[in-house]
Amino acid sequence: MIPQHHYVSCTGCGTRVHAYDSTTFACPNRDCMPEVNHILQKKHVITSALWQRSQLEDSRNPFVRYRHRLLGYHRALNAHHTDIDYLERIAQLDGALAAIDGTGFTETPLTVETGLAEAIGLDPQQKLFVKNETHNVAGSHKARHLFGVLLNLSKEALKKPFAIASCGNAALAAAVVSKAAGAHLEVYIPTDAEPAVVERLKALGATLHICERREGELGDPCYLRSLDAVKNGAIPFTCQGPDNGLTIEGGQTLAYELFDQWHAQNQSCHHLFVQVGGGALASSSAQALAEAMHHQPLPVLPRFHTVQTRGAFPLARAYDRIVKLIDARLHGLDFPTLRPYEDDMSVEQRAADHDSASISQRLIMADCIRSAWDSTAVQSVIRYAVANKHLFMWPWESAPHSIAHGILDDETYDWYNIVCTMLRTGGIPLVADEDHLELAHRLAHEKTDITPSATGSAGLAGVILMKEAHALAEFENVAVYFTGIER
Ligand SMILES: [Zn+2]
Repeated sequence: MIPQHHYVSCTGCGTRVHAYDSTTFACPNRDCMPEVNHILQKKHVITSALWQRSQLEDSRNPFVRYRHRLLGYHRALNAHHTDIDYLERIAQLDGALAAIDGTGFTETPLTVETGLAEAIGLDPQQKLFVKNETHNVAGSHKARHLFGVLLNLSKEALKKPFAIASCGNAALAAAVVSKAAGAHLEVYIPTDAEPAVVERLKALGATLHICERREGELGDPCYLRSLDAVKNGAIPFTCQGPDNGLTIEGGQTLAYELFDQWHAQNQSCHHLFVQVGGGALASSSAQALAEAMHHQPLPVLPRFHTVQTRGAFPLARAYDRIVKLIDARLHGLDFPTLRPYEDDMSVEQRAADHDSASISQRLIMADCIRSAWDSTAVQSVIRYAVANKHLFMWPWESAPHSIAHGILDDETYDWYNIVCTMLRTGGIPLVADEDHLELAHRLAHEKTDITPSATGSAGLAGVILMKEAHALAEFENVAVYFTGIER
């Protein structure tokens, strides 16, 4: 069961960091090569044994069940702890989480929602799977990411302040997890943070910093101030992969559970819809899907679709620009010139380009790219994109608004892996308007026993858009995450 070795490397520049270096969270070349997409990713060079279901321990705690896949576990072993030490630490932390927030980590439910499927017009034989994260620690999937980070930290790191920029589920999860670990959290929040969240953060003992937008500054001021804190020695206790690549592996446990639940129910799924803000949820699911493809193929590889709001869809823009280059390459045309940090379409044009009539056309192109994935045409563009982030991803120009306010990040930090997974699986980015987001939210509450926020049900808006575009075949099953409980 012991892997041959692990390492951590940058997706963008290829720099390797020692797997047991618990002080490096972001690529060291990030500042000197800003045009490259730097994000540290853990890699295991191992046999497939760690991915075999028969090898998994019969535990409902994902950090126990999947521990052999987690770098945090191997760091503990490397620091001369035993397997039993690790399990005792998980049990102790889980007890603390339950005392603070009412629950520790346990496998979250996967249900087949027939009433909801019927309400959105799916065929009776089509299954709509909902993975319900609303009763996870701190009410969303965010705690998975941060608990995964925590397990990677050394004892010395626990004495430093933890820093996060968030005013929603990520901050609440960070506050609960850091309190369970006895660490101190600094939270960077906007001036209009929800009072209920602010009160809860204070009750959990976090220190709050209110961040105003500075004249001429591009990007989220809370995020920029949290980066300052990290420069001054704080631990980036964040769900944003480029700042802390280790945040992805805890999030992967969500998709590991999903795949195992499909397996246990003898089911397969053709479309997975994931709502995207900063991108950690989608990135970790994409990574888990890549591992599954490599080690333990699913009977059907689901198309990996993403859902953003019309308020801000930087991921869809990045996807569009990459597809434009791939299309040119596949047809032997000249490489189109892309201007850095500047779209060749206005926001309105880009939004109009994502109307529902475009969905079928996008799927045809996605099929074409999926079947050409290994070709030089596609791979050369993929490699070009990771080295030229500035041509594909930059902060959204206008301040966005939506009922799904938890996915209004002006930049999709983990965009690259997500776009690659869409391209590789034949998925597309969906851009949902407010009517669809409201409908998804209302139907989730009316037709299921789950009570997600509008952000938490946003993936369903993508299913509704696809159904309206007649882009789901009647034998195809679909899956969404409901994550982020209504507060
Ligand atoms: Zn790098």
